[in-house]
Order: sequence, then C-alpha cells, then structure tokens
Amino acid sequence: MTTPQHAELTAKGRLVGEIPANTMQIIADEIREHGYTLDHHASDEIRSSMGGGGLQVLWRDEALEAHLHGADDVKLHMIREGFLHFLDHADPSLADRVIWTGHRLIDKYPPNFRVGEVVSVKPHGKAYFRVKMKIDDVESFTAPAMHFRMWLPEPGCDPVWPYLSETGRTIWPGKSDGMHDPVYTFIAADAATGEIQFDVFRHEGGRVTEWCQSVQAGVQVGLSGPGGGRQPEQNWLLMGGDETSLPAIRRILERADAGTEGHVFIEIEGAHVIEEFPAPDGVIIEWLQRDKPGQLLDRMKAIPLAETDRHVWLATEKSQVQQARSYFRDEVGIAAQESYFSAYWTRGN
Ligand SMILES: Cc1cc2nc3c(=O)[nH]c(=O)nc-3n(C[C@H](O)[C@H](O)[C@H](O)COP(=O)(O)OP(=O)(O)OC[C@H]3O[C@@H](n4cnc5c(N)ncnc54)[C@H](O)[C@@H]3O)c2cc1C
Repeated sequence: MTTPQHAELTAKGRLVGEIPANTMQIIADEIREHGYTLDHHASDEIRSSMGGGGLQVLWRDEALEAHLHGADDVKLHMIREGFLHFLDHADPSLADRVIWTGHRLIDKYPPNFRVGEVVSVKPHGKAYFRVKMKIDDVESFTAPAMHFRMWLPEPGCDPVWPYLSETGRTIWPGKSDGMHDPVYTFIAADAATGEIQFDVFRHEGGRVTEWCQSVQAGVQVGLSGPGGGRQPEQNWLLMGGDETSLPAIRRILERADAGTEGHVFIEIEGAHVIEEFPAPDGVIIEWLQRDKPGQLLDRMKAIPLAETDRHVWLATEKSQVQQARSYFRDEVGIAAQESYFSAYWTRGN
C-alpha cells in the first residue's frame, strides 16, 4: 500500500538540476536489493511499500519528486533515510540537494536515538553486569526488535551525539569522535517505569566492562534502535551461541511456543556462566566448555536437521559465524528465512 492512510505523516522531496539518467532504475534496483516490495515500476514512476509506510518517486519535467508517508516519526524518518541512501547509489552529491516540504523533525536528535540515564549497574551472577536505564518512550524504542546500540564517549571526554542534517539525514558520530557503539540485547522493557534492562558480559579489555565497574547512577548514555533480531517463527530450533548471545537465546526460548523442540549449544569460558532459564521442555540445552576450537560448529553439524519448520540460529565470534553461514547456507541449503547468522563480536578488534 503506497497511499497515505488517515493520520499518517507525509513529506515531499524535490530534486532539480543535473541528475544521472539511470537514477530511477537505480532507485528501483536498491528498493529490491533491500527486500522492499516494488508495487509499481515504470521509467517515470516507482511505488514501494516500505515498513510502516511507503515511497512514490516520480520523474516529471526533468525533476525527481519523492512522496513519502509513514505511520509515525520513526517510520517516516527511516523511509526518508532509505530514499536518500538509494539516491547515494546514483550519485552521492544528490541527497544534499533535495528540497523537503511536509513533515520535518525539529527535534534535536533523530527519532531512533535517545539519551538514556543510568539507573543502576549491578553484578548479575559472576559473568555479567545487569544495567538498568531510563529512557523516553520505551515502547517505540524496544518494539519489535531485540537489540540496540549504546553510544559511550571515551573516559573523561564529552559525548558526541548524532543529529539531523538540513536534508533530514542522520549524521552519526564518526571514528574521530571517539564514541564506542557496541550492540546489546533488551532483556526487559517496562513502559510504566520507562526502564530497559540488558546484561553486559564481563571480558578482559572490554570498554563496556570497564565502564560498568565505575559508572554512577544518573550518567547519560546514547542509545539507538531498535535494530535487528527476531523471534524465529519455526517450531524446531538448532541454536548456537556464547556469553554475548546468551541474553538473546534466553529471550527467544522464554518466548518460544511450549511445543517447540530443538537443540541449543552455548559455548562458555567456565561453569560460572551457567544459569537456569525458562525454555520449552522439548529443547535440549548443552553448555560447552570453550577449550576445543571449532567444537560449537562441529556439535551443531552433528544434529540431524528437521526436514521442515526448522530454524538454524548462531550468534558468536565472527570467524565461527562465517564458517557456519557458508556450511548451513551453501552446503546444506538452509534458506535465509529459516536461519540467522550474526557476528556478535570480533576477536582482536
Ligand atoms: C546483535 C548483537 C547483540 C549483542 N548482545 C549482547 C548482549 O546482550 N550482551 C553482551 O555482553 N554482548 C552483546 N553483544 C556483543 C557486544 O556488542 C560485543 O562483545 C562488544 O564488542 C562489546 O564491547 P566491549 O566494550 O565489551 O568490547 P570492545 O571494547 O569492543 O573490545 C575490546 C576487546 O575485547 C574483545 N572482545 C569483544 N567481545 C568479546 C567477548 N565476548 N569475549 C572476549 N573478547 C571480546 C575484542 O576483540 C577486543 O579485542 C551483542 C552483539 C550484537 C551484534
């Protein structure tokens, strides 16, 4: 559906002057590439339904017009960012020349960014810190994805937050701004108190580990999201992970249908990481001591896969994820919609 619905937010962008001849084709290709539906594609008009809204691009009188509509600020912003990204593929100088009318954000921050305040940081078992933070508008920040990015300045430095440019585009802090931006997994979100919680695995050299050891309540932290991660829809699961993905594994198994079956391997540095958590009776959970390189993938490979209604899930160190993805996707033929392979951290990075 690319027609604005009642009460939807709308915006119009107009681009004139020199525009590469293949821009309309590139926009259509990019829409497909990003997995959005291309509802209509002609040389002078493109229509696409994009998450929670839509985009119509018209080529009229040597000018390009983009009509955007979205259910709320975040949706409209993401569609605008998507359109500007598609334009970049035609020519990176085009985005800054788009003249926007209609709904514009005048907020200080992009709508998918919040400045949160630390409520508490306490040890959770021996392997984690449990962080509680207060943020505005918890519901729209946490649904429907599982993860978010945290933005921390270098110790003793002022934070640099993202902002919206004149063209409505998010300008994220760059490497030279010294911000650290690791990803974490929500383990709880309470709209009534405005609080979210997440678990930080303590590891040597970890900047967030060091931050957790000294941070005080009331300190401000940047958070962007939500982003990525989804509850598998299938009822047979083969999962693998480590300490960093244990919060996501717990979350998925806690929410899985009671009749779900499967096998879960969690590779850990020692018995102090092991914890009890709710999971369907038909799911076998095995904790693996991290002492044999490659064992996590070997153990996953040894499990006979269900023929249908199956999901293979792995989140751990990057090199293991790359091997697993090429084995399950390329050799076994597991499709993208029945699998999730994500590098949660990179050794020596
Ligand atoms: C989608 C997603 C969800 C995630 N959810 C969580 C979560 O809920 N909880 C959580 O704790 N982590 C989670 N992670 C992993 C986390 O983002 C990374 O471990 C990140 O590097 C942590 O930053 P840091 O400041 O601790 O370490 P950094 O300062 O980034 O890294 C410092 C050094 O530590 C090494 N390192 C990083 N992670 C590990 C590790 N696990 N073990 C050993 N060495 C390591 C790096 O290679 C580097 O040499 C998630 C990652 C993704 C992509």
